[in-house]
Amino acid sequence: MSTIGFIGLGQMGSPMALNLIKGGHTLKVFDINEEAVQHLVAQGAAAASSPADAAIDSEFVVTMLPNGTLVKNVIFGENGVASTLDKNALLIDMSTIHPLETDSLAKEMTAKGFSMMEAPVGRTSEHAVKGELLIMAGGTKEQIERAQPLFDCMGSETVDCGGVGKGIRVKIINNYMSIALNALSAEAATLTEAIGLEWETAMKVMSGTPAGKGHFTTTWPGKVLAGDLSPVFMVDLAHKDLGIALDLANQVNVPMPCGAASRELYSMTRAAGRGRQDWTAVLEHLRVTSGLEPKIQ
Ligand code: NAD
Repeated sequence: MSTIGFIGLGQMGSPMALNLIKGGHTLKVFDINEEAVQHLVAQGAAAASSPADAAIDSEFVVTMLPNGTLVKNVIFGENGVASTLDKNALLIDMSTIHPLETDSLAKEMTAKGFSMMEAPVGRTSEHAVKGELLIMAGGTKEQIERAQPLFDCMGSETVDCGGVGKGIRVKIINNYMSIALNALSAEAATLTEAIGLEWETAMKVMSGTPAGKGHFTTTWPGKVLAGDLSPVFMVDLAHKDLGIALDLANQVNVPMPCGAASRELYSMTRAAGRGRQDWTAVLEHLRVTSGLEPKIQ
């Protein structure tokens, strides 16, 4: 069992710290919100008076803070973690911050002789409470192996993302997709209601198709990812269907910003001569447009 300094006891950090205590670890906790600290003290943690205090004699220091500026201040600011951290300790930033900030922090930590990795988390505070977070580990094999007992208390799944800085990049892409999908889903749900459809009926249909299941595990593996763009469902037809949906929405005054932007990606794919290819060709078209090496002709 380890001695852990834990900094940032908000919606996520508080249950994560609690699960570390339940796992038998010894915690020293810090937050600018005294109430949050006292909540953890009541569960067996020791209160730290500053980030520096939380780091004294800790084998691990975990930060779970709202943004990169705060993470930097907590580490390198006045009474920061770096002023007392043992050179053999491992600092794990679990916050969601800009990857360039992670790179800069990791570089500075390494230059000062410290060990740092990032491990942002997927899912929500409800999963944090249950210890069922998905942990995107960005560190060396040795760092991840060392931190694994902590991750096992806080999460149900750890994905080794391939090195320092890569965990936070996977996390940002994951959030990009789920956050944008939330907006696209809101458009579909609003159109459903505006044209007088039963939500349950629409949801039943969409839950059984790529609309609800996503494309990574449904349409892509057998086609674009397999290097095969022979049409199962053509770009031209997908373009037509998106146009019909946008027109329908227009008639009932529902704005469809995500759908309209998507339609233009299909327009560009079609204009590039891929109209009769499989609709998964939008991936190959966007790759090539972005300057990546073509994979499929
Ligand atoms: P939160 O605002 O609930 O908690 C942040 C905590 O940090 C607060 O208790 C605050 O008092 C504390 N804090 C702020 N400045 C501090 C400082 N200088 N020193 C010490 N403590 C300080 O936020 P959260 O929902 O717990 O999110 C934390 C991180 O986790 C964020 O980066 C967020 O993007 C990420 N995240 C959140 C979720 C979610 O579902 N809420 C899911 C995955 C990842």
